[in-house]
Amino acid sequence: MTPVLPALFLGHGNPMNAISENDYTTAWRRIGESTPRPKAILAISAHWFVPGVRVTVSTAPRTIHDFGGFPAALYQVQYPAPGDPALADRLQRLLSPLSVRSDHSWGLDHGTWSVLRHLYPAADIPVVQLSIDETQPAAFHFAMGEKLAPLREEGVLIMGSGNLVHNLHAYAWGAHARAPYDWAVRFETAARQLMLAGDFEPLVNYERLGPDAALSVPTPDHYLPLLYVLGARRQHDPIRFPVEGVEGGAISMLAVQVGDARSA
Ligand code: ZN
Repeated sequence: MTPVLPALFLGHGNPMNAISENDYTTAWRRIGESTPRPKAILAISAHWFVPGVRVTVSTAPRTIHDFGGFPAALYQVQYPAPGDPALADRLQRLLSPLSVRSDHSWGLDHGTWSVLRHLYPAADIPVVQLSIDETQPAAFHFAMGEKLAPLREEGVLIMGSGNLVHNLHAYAWGAHARAPYDWAVRFETAARQLMLAGDFEPLVNYERLGPDAALSVPTPDHYLPLLYVLGARRQHDPIRFPVEGVEGGAISMLAVQVGDARSA
């Protein structure tokens, strides 16, 4: 029987994690090793935040180095995982009548490959990326997760990549040991409690959670991938946090795993 795969939200943080070895990358590798091997990965990355819903259909998605000012070694990284046009097609049917445009130009951005490089270093599992429609409210993205949930029973790993708390204005570049800001800790703590309670409505309407939310989620791009993962929860799925930590005071590296692997 095909195991029902968990859905996974990963806090990717600094792009340098792609070529670093640290507690986060070790934990990511462990997640890859402890999860039943997916047939394919559906990645929803903070870094494909565009008008409209698009899905990559290339059989060989390119590795996109979508950042500036980093060491040359980071630009040399390739993550040559194959694409999966059949999964893209399945996804378009699943989301119908919503229009999901086939995209031939995007590939895998660093939100996707900086973590997958550690989860699946062999890059031999097909990856499809789904864009985050920047014109839609948070409730739309949560509903997308609900619609995508059946893919978990078809051997597809739904992976959101962003950061629960992501404030680059407050981020202490180069000072990773900086203590987390109080507002970051409060928001993450509140979000964790809501997740564990299965109370997702306040997380969808996070803008009503006050000043801590406004500082933690100054722009929605890194937060919304979480809503896809929460939306994909099946009743009684446990919620775990297999990676924890706050970088530079203002970036939560929290990972959220929805569900255990089990037989369908
Ligand atoms: Zn990012």
